[in-house]
Amino acid sequence: MNNLNSYWKPFNRADNPSILEVVSGQGVNLYDKDGKKYFDGYSGLWNMPYGYDDEDIKNAIIDQLNTLPYVNPITINYPKIEELSQLLCRILHKDIDKIIYTCSGSESNEVAIKLARKYSALKGSSRKAIGVVENSYHGSYYGSMSASTYEGKLREGYGPMLSGFVSLPMPFTRDFKIDEFSTECKEKIVSRLNEELAVLKDHLCAIIIEPIIASGGIIPLFDEYIRALYEVCQDNDILFVCDEVATGFGRTGELFCFQHFNIKPDIITLSKGINNGYLPLGATCVTKKVVQQFINNKEIIFHLSTQNGNPLSVAAALANINKMLQDNTLEKVRENSAFISKTIKNDLCKFNSIFDIRCFGMMFAIDIVDENDKPIPKEKLSELMQRIYSLGCIMGSAYVEGITSAILVLPPFIATKGDIKKLSKIISKAIIEVNLF
Ligand code: PMP
Repeated sequence: MNNLNSYWKPFNRADNPSILEVVSGQGVNLYDKDGKKYFDGYSGLWNMPYGYDDEDIKNAIIDQLNTLPYVNPITINYPKIEELSQLLCRILHKDIDKIIYTCSGSESNEVAIKLARKYSALKGSSRKAIGVVENSYHGSYYGSMSASTYEGKLREGYGPMLSGFVSLPMPFTRDFKIDEFSTECKEKIVSRLNEELAVLKDHLCAIIIEPIIASGGIIPLFDEYIRALYEVCQDNDILFVCDEVATGFGRTGELFCFQHFNIKPDIITLSKGINNGYLPLGATCVTKKVVQQFINNKEIIFHLSTQNGNPLSVAAALANINKMLQDNTLEKVRENSAFISKTIKNDLCKFNSIFDIRCFGMMFAIDIVDENDKPIPKEKLSELMQRIYSLGCIMGSAYVEGITSAILVLPPFIATKGDIKKLSKIISKAIIEVNLF
């Protein structure tokens, strides 16, 4: 039997015992060695809308493996990569002109950061600063980690970080539930933002947003906030970068979250849902304006990893995206979203410990407070999560001091009503069992 103790899991202490060991996956479920079934209410790590054994995606990978398993990305092209690039350009927006492939969301954001700074330099500008929204997560490589303020304490000691990131105020307060933010409250947030932008705008080459702060607790950026950022970008030739790593590919009920806001980001970063998680793949999607600046200056893009644009990953993405376009997936996401929201609100709102349930498409945060209406401590949240696991359901959590303590639910799009009812009942039972009602 494997010695599982040799494995140091990402984002874990080396001595953390594993909560769960599984041996197989089928549909929306994982199975341990004793055959116990776990419903995966977290879609892997938010990247498996079609679950663990989608035949179309598996077959696309197998066919590609038998035809052309790898090519050198610097020198060689192949038809499927052009097909995927054209498809992405078509479903993003009309100004997107080129797709750069990566192996992860973090890497996609590294490329965005490099492009933004180089674009500024090519224009002859000295602007290098990049605006990032407080409590956002953009990845764990040095650039994307430096751009992230989520879990700031955990980054201590790894420095020096990449310099030049400036934090913008998060559009959130615990004074209201998310659906009850008043116009006045929003105006206050936007006016603070505008004051900061007025000072920063001459130094910024880009602003990067997660349109819904995901790891930080499913906190959507509201319309007026996004518009303020977008307008300052447009008026000052600051690149507007939309990190759609978590929100892309249908998760919010549109193919991409920016499509809810009638905006056209200059750079869009993708990964996760791009190919149903079976193989590593990400993309940085770039508008003509940026591409042209590189062409005019006869500049290459200084970015390469040997596995960029791997044919197996690309074949899986084509199968996945075509399925999404043909299967009426967005309609299913919207229907599921409404059903999940109704079910968990019905089952959970009776508990005094539930402060709010934040829903956006198929992204949900169940925000839990103690008897003083403060987010429950990290340890209590861990205890609750362990209980949920042992009851046969997998989901995640977000703990951000002073901001939120929440269960995160991002189920696969193919989850049935029965799966959702089960998930909701398990959360309810776990809340009672750990005395959080
Ligand atoms: N951006 C966002 C918005 C994310 O949610 C994540 C992953 N949680 C990343 C970037 C990093 O992606 P990856 O883990 O694939 O590097």
